[in-house]
Amino acid sequence: MLTQRLILTGNEAHDEPLIQQAAAIIHAGGLVAFPTETVYGLGADALNSEAVRRIFLAKERPAWDPLIVHVDTPEAIHRYTHDYSVLTEKLIRAFMPGPLTLVLPKREMISDVVTAGRDTVAIRIPLHPVARALIRSSGTPIAAPSANKFGRPSPTTADHVLHDLNGAIEAVLDAGQTPMGVESTILDMTTQPPTLLRPGGVPKEAIEAVIGAVRTLGDPIEEGEPLPAPGLSVRHYAPKAKVLLCAPEPAIFYGALKDALSQYAFVGALRPEGWRTPDDPRLRVFEWGKWGDWETLAQRLFRGLRALEQEQTHAIVCPLPPEEGLARALRDRLLRAAR
Ligand code: AMP
Ligand code: MG
Repeated sequence: MLTQRLILTGNEAHDEPLIQQAAAIIHAGGLVAFPTETVYGLGADALNSEAVRRIFLAKERPAWDPLIVHVDTPEAIHRYTHDYSVLTEKLIRAFMPGPLTLVLPKREMISDVVTAGRDTVAIRIPLHPVARALIRSSGTPIAAPSANKFGRPSPTTADHVLHDLNGAIEAVLDAGQTPMGVESTILDMTTQPPTLLRPGGVPKEAIEAVIGAVRTLGDPIEEGEPLPAPGLSVRHYAPKAKVLLCAPEPAIFYGALKDALSQYAFVGALRPEGWRTPDDPRLRVFEWGKWGDWETLAQRLFRGLRALEQEQTHAIVCPLPPEEGLARALRDRLLRAAR
């Protein structure tokens, strides 16, 4: 199969026919990768089981790992789920469209393939204009996990998508780099209080300011309760190189790089601005951004991991961000990549 790259310009007259073309592919049961404000998603018609099955094949994703459904309005959330809780309404009003995914009891028309047989569905309203236009033109909810091979760093450019999925999908809508660079926050609304399944674009603190305390995965789960978020327990977001994390201190980072260089032939560094690195021809440096500027560091994280992997490094050294705000999402992805 030839994967088409549909290059968007931001000019509506130019882009509209390309969006229509992509929507026609979705409608016909095909696969289209598209930008969201978080990362590139790999979309299929969420009401078409055969189409959704193809997502799992293309990504080599295990069938037990459910997908997020993307819709364009709060009404559509109500159409595909049944949940009448006040908290859900508050969250929709505060954060949608945006990088927040809610796990809610699903209605029948959502394919069991999407939810891996669960009676809940993860659903969100993306903010990116291209994602919104695609959903609107397709006239159907779009199931879309990140558009990478299973376990790899998520794609933040169309090049990343093609690197992993060229020949396995019909098209990618190319609108340049995605603005946030890390995935959505996932909140399970079927527990009381709601459970944070994955930290992401909307910080926990912002959610708690709207609905009060939430439970975090890792907090004790009651006996007999199933593991609430399949797919979050395995090595993930990982480049081929080994990821080595260190405490976020310039001197410790320097020492960790020295150590790595004594053990591996080629070493990569995700370097915060102004931090020193050893002078060694076997070291490859990715200029990550200013430490503490989590927006910039989030936008460039997966790109950095993929860039250093391309440079054939055997290990990548990276300081570990703290457990607060958006940094929590970076920390989570790096801990999983380092497993
Ligand atoms: P991805 O689309 O690749 O960002 O991954 C989506 C993740 O959302 C999955 O790996 C699951 O952990 C989580 N998820 C999706 N649907 C559900 C659901 N119904 N219940 C719990 N977690 C879910
Ligand atoms: Mg993913």
